Amino acid sequence: MEFYDLDTVEINKEALKHVSKDLCDEYKVFPYDIKGRELYLAACGDLSMEQVKYLSFLIRKNIKAAVGKEEQITTYINRFYEENYRKALVSNFKLRDDKNKEEDLRGAKGPIVFLVDSILRDGVMKGASDIHIEPVMNSVRVRYRVDGVLIKSSTEIPKNIYENINTRIKVMAQMDISNKYEVQDGEINMKIHGDNFDFRVSSLPTIYGEKFVLRILKRNGNLLKLDTLGFGQGDYKILMNALKFKQGLIIITGPTGSGKTSTLYAMIRELNKESRNIITVEKPVECTIEGINQVSIGSKGNLEYGKVLKAALRQDPDVIMVGEIIDKDTAETAVRASLTGHLVLTTLHTNDASSTINRLTDMGIDQELLNSSLLMVIAQRLTRTICEHCKIDYDLSLEEKKLLGDESVVMKAYKGIGCNKCNHTGFKGRTIAYEVMVIGEKVKEAIKTKDDNLIRESAMKNGMVTLEEYFKALVLNGTTTVEQYVSNMQVYSIERAIGGDYGI
Ligand SMILES: [Zn+2]
Repeated sequence: MEFYDLDTVEINKEALKHVSKDLCDEYKVFPYDIKGRELYLAACGDLSMEQVKYLSFLIRKNIKAAVGKEEQITTYINRFYEENYRKALVSNFKLRDDKNKEEDLRGAKGPIVFLVDSILRDGVMKGASDIHIEPVMNSVRVRYRVDGVLIKSSTEIPKNIYENINTRIKVMAQMDISNKYEVQDGEINMKIHGDNFDFRVSSLPTIYGEKFVLRILKRNGNLLKLDTLGFGQGDYKILMNALKFKQGLIIITGPTGSGKTSTLYAMIRELNKESRNIITVEKPVECTIEGINQVSIGSKGNLEYGKVLKAALRQDPDVIMVGEIIDKDTAETAVRASLTGHLVLTTLHTNDASSTINRLTDMGIDQELLNSSLLMVIAQRLTRTICEHCKIDYDLSLEEKKLLGDESVVMKAYKGIGCNKCNHTGFKGRTIAYEVMVIGEKVKEAIKTKDDNLIRESAMKNGMVTLEEYFKALVLNGTTTVEQYVSNMQVYSIERAIGGDYGI
């Protein structure tokens, strides 16, 4: 009998997303490829017609089964479904106090090396933005930030091997192994399932030992496209038109974690052509893009934002991306650059589009210069989207109606009750809520009054849907929940969020 050899094919990671680990274990199958409606599995023996039918029904794909070796299938299930692989590794540590030699931790093999590799691989497979590896009182906790929320890994790692894990991470990130009492940073480059990944590592000495956070940096291929971020068709067109300008300033605002950087990168991706010289100045570079000159203002070296920005202007740029406006110097340089033949893209921490203008003039930016340079301001938030597989509707309570600021009209909202597909969170993925304020003539007039409300109103007269209205629409059409709305929009109305009248 001929066996299908998994070692000889490239595993298509997409296939794994359609089959749960439990199903793999139960039927001793491993999904290795997917093409349209066809899902390819390696199974331990011939599957009966009934089994194929049943699996097709569960997975909602047409199953194509090949016969593989049981041992290989089990290895593949474990390797690709990392948690169990790690549990097996860790259970081997349990009884012995495994003091690896330092040389072992510098090599490419050994249980600690496999364990750390597995933690990193798992983060990438889960689509996490950060991996937290932290010693607590009696164990080591691993958590992944997925869709903005920390999720704990179910693998219990014993504290007695933490020293080895610690050393291994530091070796990989080229950090100082002997120094355990100062903050450090480093970088890890690793090939995972055929793709290269960079991890930015930072350590923090806590009372239980050093905690590590690994930010998973994206590369070219993982950049999101502007039309997939969640902008409506009309607004997408407006954005694309703004990107055609030879000069001017585009600002994206929102709190930390609102997806500003993703929008910036998506715009840069649209602009990335051989005929354009694009320079980015970031602190630090979060995502490398081929064909772009990126400068990282890191903790190492003495590069300063303002200085680098001025140097960038001497490099004959067409487009400049400034990671963030942090002070008067960067603001002034960015505005001046946008008035002298450059398209400048940047971000700022403000709650909405209209307050951005006065924030900049408060920083000391000349209002007239700003008026002549600013093309548009986008204010945005990231919100989790309800899992389609367990979504239900329900009648809003009076309290929730109040939270939405609409006590009469709205009756129903939606939520996810949790299922296997969403890891019992009720959510799957994220999208943006936003407002796009185009700086037209009317808005320019309003800017002169320095009145945030007037600026907003004139933008609304020009067709701007406010962030709050847009977000509310996402709640009412079942994209996201009332809770997401409240937690993202509470800055607007803390008394509404808290639920009492505090006279704020
Ligand atoms: Zn669900």
